[in-house]
Amino acid sequence: MPMIAILAGDGIGPEVTAEARRVLSALSLDLSFGEAPVGGAAYHATGHPLPPETIDLAERADAILFGAVGDPSCDALPRHLRPEQAILGLRKRLGLFANLRPARLFAGLEDASALKPEIAGRIDMVILRELTGDVYFGEKGMRTTAGGLREGYDVMAYAEDEVRRIVTVGFEMARHRKRKLCSVDKANVLETSQLWRDVVIETAEDYPDIALTHMYVDNAAMQLVRDPGQFDVVVTGNLFGDILSDQASMCAGSIGMLPSASLRAWSGDNGLYEPIHGSAPDIAGQGKANPCAAILSAAMLLRHSLSMDAAADRIEAAVAAAIAGGARTADLGGTLSTRGMADAVLARL
Ligand code: NAD
Repeated sequence: MPMIAILAGDGIGPEVTAEARRVLSALSLDLSFGEAPVGGAAYHATGHPLPPETIDLAERADAILFGAVGDPSCDALPRHLRPEQAILGLRKRLGLFANLRPARLFAGLEDASALKPEIAGRIDMVILRELTGDVYFGEKGMRTTAGGLREGYDVMAYAEDEVRRIVTVGFEMARHRKRKLCSVDKANVLETSQLWRDVVIETAEDYPDIALTHMYVDNAAMQLVRDPGQFDVVVTGNLFGDILSDQASMCAGSIGMLPSASLRAWSGDNGLYEPIHGSAPDIAGQGKANPCAAILSAAMLLRHSLSMDAAADRIEAAVAAAIAGGARTADLGGTLSTRGMADAVLARL
């Protein structure tokens, strides 16, 4: 029986993961659950945001449903003990190099998008971001120039195997969607991007059925707001993906609706699934949080880590039907509580 580790974390994390678990349980699938503290909750209980028993549960699990971490009472702690270090530690420990963010606008939420409704309504894409390399992890430091000025530097680098594994996830994903892959780089200026593009072209030989395009990142940023409907799967490096995935999120509407996955293989083996939002301390404990991002993260978990596609489809269809039927939490301009929104989804399951 597959085991799901629930790491609820801080703030609204426990509120939204409880509802996602309720939806999973309602499907009567053969699943077992384990729970462990993470983030500020773990720090207060054990003295560390990612204690050994949490790592152990995460490593044993078939998949991880993560809530959110972030606790203002931990703001003065040294960096390595801050709640946010838990998610970085888990990614590293589990080798999660592929971050998937679907951006899809649910019918009825056109007004929540930063774009015109007729443009926003066409968004149905996935941004695939490399998570463990690029300029964030290269050599970095501060030095002094010959003229005595302070200079900061960060080295951007990708090795070809790092590019190949993320691009392969992109091609596989495209195969399960509309068979379109757009690789985003800055090959006109950066050597790192030239290698990226070369490896994408080499990998494409194994995927003749996928329509591959290349786009410079500046153009991609423009096209995302001009005509986001043109994209299916977008694959890119850590830095460009960081920016483009947030941009795509806002095109697709409220932060309370958007799930994500972090994987170490296309198969989703031991993947981590979480809403893109944080712990939202401003609304925590008030029953106001929108649980849909967590519920949709659970659907992604079923699809990618447990190959339960039909169950994932059911959850996504129930969320879409609840939204189309007018169910709205405060972030969507409505009055439903966290529990009330989940009830609306459950009623359509
Ligand atoms: P946030 O995502 O927690 O909140 C931003 C705004 O969106 C807030 O006004 C919040 O009320 C609202 N919001 C977020 N999720 C919502 C939901 N489900 N329903 C309704 N409204 C929602 O971002 P922040 O305020 O910048 O960060 C708060 C804490 O979360 C910080 O400690 C930050 O480091 C942490 N954080 C954690 C993660 C993670 O766990 N992966 C991600 C982002 C931020």
